[in-house]
Amino acid sequence: MTYNKNNIFAKIIRREADAEIIYENDHVLCFNDIFPKSKIHVLIIPKNEYLNIYDFSKNASIHEKESIFLAFETLIDLFKLDKKGCRIITNHEIDGRQEVPHLHFHFLGGQDLGTMINI
Ligand code: 5GP
Repeated sequence: MTYNKNNIFAKIIRREADAEIIYENDHVLCFNDIFPKSKIHVLIIPKNEYLNIYDFSKNASIHEKESIFLAFETLIDLFKLDKKGCRIITNHEIDGRQEVPHLHFHFLGGQDLGTMINI
């Protein structure tokens, strides 16, 4: 998989495609998944072009990494999931069945998610 500037998340970042934005900061955008797999299903993405978690782990700045964790914290606060809980997943490449070639974390919650969930 290579980075394709025309992927749907790149278009959402450039505001060329619509999304229900829940939260954003300098480095991160959070919006509802178009096909939610649970009552709460938000996608968390870096605004810069990172293909996947490996690319991001290797190449993102400390500020970009910190901003992802700030987004996790903010969404947990926003949905009041501190005690109730949630699940955060990223699919990586072929075995992980990553479909969109721009790093994204699935933030799932609002219900019992079971022992595993296919995203
Ligand atoms: P992946 O399989 O790559 O981990 O997840 C891609 C996710 O992007 C899927 O959950 C899918 O529903 C979501 N998705 C695909 N196209 C769009 C879109 O146009 N808008 C939004 N908001 N989500 C999308």
